[in-house]
Amino acid sequence: MALTGIEIFKLLAKTNCKECGFPTCLAFAMALASGKAELEACPYVSDEVKEKLAEASAPPIRPVKFGMKDAMKAVGGETVMFRHEKTFFNPTIIAGLLTTAMSDAEVDAKIATFNKLQFERVGLNLRPEMFAVKDVNGDAGKFAAIVKKVMAGSDAALMLCSDKADVVKAGAEVAKERKPILAAATPATADAFGALAKELGLPLVAKAEGYDALAELTTKLTGMGLKDLLLDSGSRTLKQAFQDQVTFRRAALVPKFRPFGFPTVTCPCEMTDDPMKEALYAAVFIAKYGGIVVLSDLDPAVVFPLLLERLNIFTDPQKPMIITPGIYEIGNPGPDSPIAVTTNFALTYFIVSGEIEGSKVPTWLIIQDTEGLSVMTAWAAGKFSGDSVGIWVKKCGILDKAKNRTIIIPGYAAGISGDLEEELPDWKVLIGPREASHIPAFLKAL
Ligand code: SF4
Repeated sequence: MALTGIEIFKLLAKTNCKECGFPTCLAFAMALASGKAELEACPYVSDEVKEKLAEASAPPIRPVKFGMKDAMKAVGGETVMFRHEKTFFNPTIIAGLLTTAMSDAEVDAKIATFNKLQFERVGLNLRPEMFAVKDVNGDAGKFAAIVKKVMAGSDAALMLCSDKADVVKAGAEVAKERKPILAAATPATADAFGALAKELGLPLVAKAEGYDALAELTTKLTGMGLKDLLLDSGSRTLKQAFQDQVTFRRAALVPKFRPFGFPTVTCPCEMTDDPMKEALYAAVFIAKYGGIVVLSDLDPAVVFPLLLERLNIFTDPQKPMIITPGIYEIGNPGPDSPIAVTTNFALTYFIVSGEIEGSKVPTWLIIQDTEGLSVMTAWAAGKFSGDSVGIWVKKCGILDKAKNRTIIIPGYAAGISGDLEEELPDWKVLIGPREASHIPAFLKAL
């Protein structure tokens, strides 16, 4: 049973030393009880107390880890219903489906497509992460052979899906170094799948239709000593599957109902034959609250918008996306190329750099640290002033790279030009356009 904030407070050191980032032990205890702090943040908790607090401090939805070739991934670990309350931590994993009904050539083609699905956006690499390998005919040899192809041909994480524990075991033995997820234990197969997951130390999907049956199943599996579980409600209609996601999240967070305190697996691939509907269903589960979304096909035209949606949902709304301050060379600039300056808000950088690239005018772009604020906000907050820009221009290293001594400032920051001219007396300050879309014409006219 979860402890209250006051009960947790009684177990803390009560020195109010603030090392946890909270002003008092009581504030830390309250945050811990509501899942808004991690127990590890207090260095003065004894092992004995740690044990007592484990229940109270455990995330309401257990983070479940599994492996790609060179990295561990996690789903779950969420602590809020709505992103603006805090943030969402572990992005929905996007998985492509491979089945034992597919030919070798088909499997190879899907692995090749998976490998190509890498998109660079706002300095991040966006991509799907997993293959769900599904047994449709009980052929353990074919199942293991597909798993072997995935292991050899990609860095994908794996979810191994069959009704039969021995088929899943054949795949797990091939993929064990990558820590695959086993799927799925049902009320009828809980003993065999539970024993297999325990023996191999792997995460396991629990699948049952109806909330009572699923709660009973996860209770049974945790009773067998399994901790890393995922939930599959078995629902294959959008309405019911969506309702299930919300129900599981709410039950895990509000009354802290432990049997539903696990991430979920959703299967748009089994919900429709219409690729457009499947994409829309996947979009729903990325928004609320799918841990893993399995698609029948990794079509780039579907995967790319889903990746962007995922990026938006799982970006911390309280932390602006930022670019490292410095000098960015666009189009291989030389000593006489134009020099422009803007803020380190990621969107500003990518829009401005995209327009400069489109202009085909090689340009030095100086990025100033404004703590992720856009031009107008940074200017209003005094973080993009004539003084600070001038000091950064002198410090950033552009004096060694370029002979040109004309600097272009954003049109929205025209007000800093006077101070900037004072800070950089040898320079000419040009006021650039207000709208990024006017940058190409502006640069070409220089
Ligand atoms: Fe209290 Fe521990 Fe936080 Fe110090 S670090 S204020 S002892 S909870």
